[in-house]
Amino acid sequence: MLEFFLNHISFQPDTLELLNKLHARPNSEHQRHLERLAEEAQAIAKPKAVYRVAAIDQRGEDYVVLGGTTFRSRILAVNLKQVYRAFPFVATCGVELDKWVASKDDTLDHFYADAIAERALRAAIQTLVDHITEHFRPDGLSEMNPGSLADWPLYEQKPLFSLLGDSPAMIGVSLLPGMLMTPAKSVSGIWFPKAESFASCQLCPMPKCPGRRAPYEPDLAARKYGIS
Ligand code: SF4
Repeated sequence: MLEFFLNHISFQPDTLELLNKLHARPNSEHQRHLERLAEEAQAIAKPKAVYRVAAIDQRGEDYVVLGGTTFRSRILAVNLKQVYRAFPFVATCGVELDKWVASKDDTLDHFYADAIAERALRAAIQTLVDHITEHFRPDGLSEMNPGSLADWPLYEQKPLFSLLGDSPAMIGVSLLPGMLMTPAKSVSGIWFPKAESFASCQLCPMPKCPGRRAPYEPDLAARKYGIS
């Protein structure tokens, strides 16, 4: 199975975007505070990602066998219907930033540092998407993550980490007994080619979620996935 480690990801925190997102005033002491932390973070940050190219061996109504590993999800099975390969992955802000955030005792320092580490994770994810796009030219890309929908629960992290073998550990990511990951600013899942883009948020009614990436479509689960 082909595998790619993305270990040299450039990260330059955008302090103006952060200020705006954190509702802090520009040209204030908050901006200088944030800039100091952003400089500290940039000096040590090593966001990373790893992914594999896995063939779809078999599929059923509510399961798919990817690279010899079975995943149980009706929505994943439908999303991978027209696809012959997919990209299981883990991306992380890196252990360096994780320790740096944990070292911040002051509440505001910790809040800002956490937001900066989140941006480092996003940089890792974007680099991973760019890499897949450049090397495999998929007709669109979408992702699913274990635990983001009831149909694909968090315990499906187990087969995902089993499929990825030692690779997450090689970028500093471990799966905890409760199926969460450390560093906490890590994301795991499967990217797959999809012309018509998919986001779990389309199937999630969570009101006022700050992470929402697509509007909720109440009829989509029944219409497209046959789930009532
Ligand atoms: S709306 Fe929020 S909770 Fe629901 S899937 Fe999207 S990010 Fe996750």
